Amino acid sequence: MDGSIADHAVETDKLRRRLDRERRARVEAEGIAERGLRELYEKQKQLELLEAVAVFANQAASVRDALRFAIARICEFTGWPLGHVCLVEAVDATPCMVSTNIWCGAEAKSLQGFHQETDRMRYLSGVGLPGRVLATGTPTWIVDVATDEGFIHTKSAQAAGLKSAFGFPVMVHTEVAAVLEFFSDTQLQPDTTLLWLTAQIGTQLGRVVERQRSDEKLIHDASHDPLTGLPNRALFLDRLTRAIARNKRNPDANFAVLFVDLDRFKVVNDSLGHLAGDSLIIEVATRFQASLRQTDMVARPNAVPAGRLRAETVGSGLAGDGGSETYDTLARLGGDEFTVLLDDIQDLSDAVRIADRLLASLRLPFTLQEQEIYVEASIGIALSATGYAAADEVLRDADLAMYRAKALGKSRYEVFDRTMHVQAMGQLALETDLRRALQNQEFILHYQPIVDLRTGDITGLEALVRWQKSETELIYPGDFIPVAEDTGLILHLGMWVLREACERTRAWQLQFPRERPLTISINVSGRQFAQPDLVPQIRHIIEDTGIDPETVRLELTESVTMANAERAISVLEQLRSLGVRISIDDFGTGYSSLSYLHRFPLDVLKIDRSFVLQMDNAKEGLQIVHTILSLARNLKMEVVAEGVETDRHLSKLRALGCEAGQGYYFSRPVNVAGIQTLLASPPDWGC
Ligand code: C2E
Ligand code: MG
Ligand code: MG
Repeated sequence: MDGSIADHAVETDKLRRRLDRERRARVEAEGIAERGLRELYEKQKQLELLEAVAVFANQAASVRDALRFAIARICEFTGWPLGHVCLVEAVDATPCMVSTNIWCGAEAKSLQGFHQETDRMRYLSGVGLPGRVLATGTPTWIVDVATDEGFIHTKSAQAAGLKSAFGFPVMVHTEVAAVLEFFSDTQLQPDTTLLWLTAQIGTQLGRVVERQRSDEKLIHDASHDPLTGLPNRALFLDRLTRAIARNKRNPDANFAVLFVDLDRFKVVNDSLGHLAGDSLIIEVATRFQASLRQTDMVARPNAVPAGRLRAETVGSGLAGDGGSETYDTLARLGGDEFTVLLDDIQDLSDAVRIADRLLASLRLPFTLQEQEIYVEASIGIALSATGYAAADEVLRDADLAMYRAKALGKSRYEVFDRTMHVQAMGQLALETDLRRALQNQEFILHYQPIVDLRTGDITGLEALVRWQKSETELIYPGDFIPVAEDTGLILHLGMWVLREACERTRAWQLQFPRERPLTISINVSGRQFAQPDLVPQIRHIIEDTGIDPETVRLELTESVTMANAERAISVLEQLRSLGVRISIDDFGTGYSSLSYLHRFPLDVLKIDRSFVLQMDNAKEGLQIVHTILSLARNLKMEVVAEGVETDRHLSKLRALGCEAGQGYYFSRPVNVAGIQTLLASPPDWGC
């Protein structure tokens, strides 16, 4: 029995040890299983966080939304009470981190002091937690904010009960675009898993920044001028439309539009080439921008930052917290045209001050291809006070005022007023009428005799165009030739006049044969003279009508020939070689360089009627005509005195030895039948 009891005890002991072993193994197994499960659970949570941020980032409307979402999820994940975002910003080209209003958990009362101190902070590279992340581009962990030397908000953080902190960067390639920082209320050692996780999140968020940047660039390129980077016409019109809407809501929100056109740009482009023209445009844009940036220029009643150009944030990918809507916009419409929108100004004087400043900015010369170039501008101003409904109306009026400024002598500004519009409308209507008149053949020619002052013979005629608008309405060239010039209609009209006058004169030459055939003088305008195919066109007309070219006199004014003297000489020589003669019309009213006059192949000089008129009054009047006559003799030119109105004019001109005259004294310009009568039975003019 003893043996069996002892055996039993041994068995029991063995059994207990086995049970112990099994229990230990089970506990161990359970422990392993639980740890594994927990790890699995945590991994699961980490993946959820990563996925949530990735999904949200993919569809986020803005970078800010994505950042806001990320800090909220990270706070939730870590259980840390406070999260905050800083964005990178360049200050004088040095990047620094700027605190944003994107927070998580900052509403807690205990955090107010810390929140306020951190708000609007700027951290230079290396300074503070955000600055350290910016400098290294890697996550940074601070175990104890109270003792860490690199932490700069020690006191307020302690007062808020904050203990540990960490920050990580949002990376776009190798560049830090933002920093997310978090604060815990217990002291914690660096958590490598968390650091790894946030590095992944930083990369995800970087992609959103990148995407937004390329979207912004696309939008920017579509709305900006590639040469100067300034807003283009579309963007300018858009901002102007907003200004009009604001002005409607609040009539105190005045605006002005300045239309700026360079005065000598074409000369630069033509003489120095397009590259030089481009660099001039860029230089001008820079000067304009600088003069608009000067502060203290504009008083803005609605309390927005004064005298600042609207910031054109390109490529940060992080702009877009609204910004002020009421800054000035400088735009390039194309070519040498710039516009400025001055939004929310007090009155006209603000716009005038800016116009002066823009003009002044051009006063110093530009250096292009080692040459000093002076450029001026004409500016037209349109004001909201005129009451506009659409942006293109404002632009049109500013443009009109700019043309007025140009016409009045350039390098100046003009403010639009209603009369300009009325004039422009009249001009537009006239243009349409003229086109129709040309199609309907409403133009007719009158002719005025040119008389030999020694014999009283009609030696020639001048063809003068009229517009027979209706049976009773005859319109004189002074009222439509300038518009025909501006619109180019003069080219058709001029050719019609030439053909008609040559045809008619050829018929008269045959009908009234004489030793020296009747001449015909025909006016040629500046625009016609500039036509490259003027010479062949005239040759055709001469050939078609069969007129002797030596009887055709083309009348040109001094300004037309002097505008481009070298070209004029060559064209005049070609015309001369056709056989036609050249008259210089209205001599003395334009500017003639006498040295050029010697080089021009000219045949006839027509003394402007203002000199003939002056012979009545002063002795100098007589002297001037005398001088012109001797000049013409020296140049071996024939002379015709225009505006012979009285027998006193006639006798004085005869006394001075002037050989030919034209004027009301002999005959007004008359129609074909009138000339027919004059040629058939020449009156006795007492010559
Ligand atoms: P213009 O070529 O100097 O023509 C002379 C102008 O003086 C004509 O005016 C004529 O009627 C006017 N006139 C003639 N004698 C007298 C006078 O004794 N006293 C006064 N006060 N005026 C006199 P019109 O016909 O009104 O033409 C004005 C201008 O229009 C012309 O000046 C010419 O520059 C331009 N013009 C006329 N016809 C044509 C044309 O077919 N083509 C072009 N391009 N211009 C033309
Ligand atoms: Mg003439
Ligand atoms: Mg004349």
